[in-house]
Amino acid sequence: MVNLLDFDVEGLTDWFAQRGEKPFRARQVSRWIHRFGVDDVGQMTDVAKTLRAMLAAEAEIRGPQSLRDSTAADGTRKWLLGVGNQLGNGNAIETVFIPEANRGTLCISSQVGCALECSFCSTGKQGFNRNLSTAEIIGQLWHANRMLGAVRQPGVDDSGERVISNVVLMGMGEPLANLDNVSAALRLMLDDNAYGLSRRRVTVSTAGLVPAIDRLRDSVPVALAVSLHAPTDALRDELVPINRKYPLRELMAACRRYLEKAPRDFITFEYVLLAGINDSDADAHAVLQLTRTVPCKFNLIPFNPFPGSDYRRPTPERVRRFQEILMNADVVATVRKTRGGDIDAACGQLAGQVQDRTRRHEAQGGKVRSRTHQTIPITLEVNA
Ligand code: SAH
Repeated sequence: MVNLLDFDVEGLTDWFAQRGEKPFRARQVSRWIHRFGVDDVGQMTDVAKTLRAMLAAEAEIRGPQSLRDSTAADGTRKWLLGVGNQLGNGNAIETVFIPEANRGTLCISSQVGCALECSFCSTGKQGFNRNLSTAEIIGQLWHANRMLGAVRQPGVDDSGERVISNVVLMGMGEPLANLDNVSAALRLMLDDNAYGLSRRRVTVSTAGLVPAIDRLRDSVPVALAVSLHAPTDALRDELVPINRKYPLRELMAACRRYLEKAPRDFITFEYVLLAGINDSDADAHAVLQLTRTVPCKFNLIPFNPFPGSDYRRPTPERVRRFQEILMNADVVATVRKTRGGDIDAACGQLAGQVQDRTRRHEAQGGKVRSRTHQTIPITLEVNA
């Protein structure tokens, strides 16, 4: 059985062509799956009976398994989604919906865990299991749309405001380390026969995989956020170890190249503020110096603590001062509000459930806490 969520529209067109079906049928079926959110070919009322029979025999529309659905006091909603393999082992990822007055943002995951080991990130501490498939990446948006009652209705004018207007690949994992599947999912997000989102409202966040930044620019240039976090290679090597491979000079050059094709005329630099580590006035000035050749905005993220982390969040006064130094140099800097903190849905708190294959826990003497063994029941509470 193929899972139709694994195809972008072009892929579905090819698969249909091999079965003698016309391209417009692929667009039609994509609309049923992604715009109207159906999981059953029987519901595709205007699709020819013979095609429906073929699909019923050869294909399925299989979204992720919902293991848990939590809503925070501020309305942020988080789903724990099971992505087990054939052996039935319990991997799970997290997806977060953040409602705001004028937009709704879905934060999605790209890998089970993460291999990059940034020192301040909870996902990194969980180890890495595998890349998510296209179906598992787009399945998060497909699932959230259904759960939020946001799917469209056939024949109804749907030009109005969208429940999910923005998507950010800022959940678990490094999206650019899973570029093929991420690109297919991005194409579906942008395709008018699927989600039809604006390129400017889809953001990929990366810790700085330079060659993949170039590939993204040439294949699906969406908005780009880069996790900067430090003004010097010495410090960034420590916080974001991938910096040893792609140092700041190369990263800044890749950002400039990206802007040639980006849908926005700036790069967003994310900067997690760690008390006493990277939050001094001198750090702020050094950051300005480093990025002066890259049109950019800053998104400052006061550190979100998690069990077992040694870093501390700076005082609000320190955060304000850091922001002010950037703003005084005419660089836009916003401070990311913590959302969904009471359900561990904030930046860097997503841990899901990762069957670590890197054996990082053993290597560190089992000291790193793992939620795998703490809180997650593998019973299906909601199954949608
Ligand atoms: N791997 C990609 C996508 C993850 S995005 C990347 O690194 O950009 C998640 C964002 O939250 C990144 O900017 C990450 O550095 C930041 N983050 C991670 N841990 C955090 C924590 N404990 N507190 C605040 N921000 C954190």
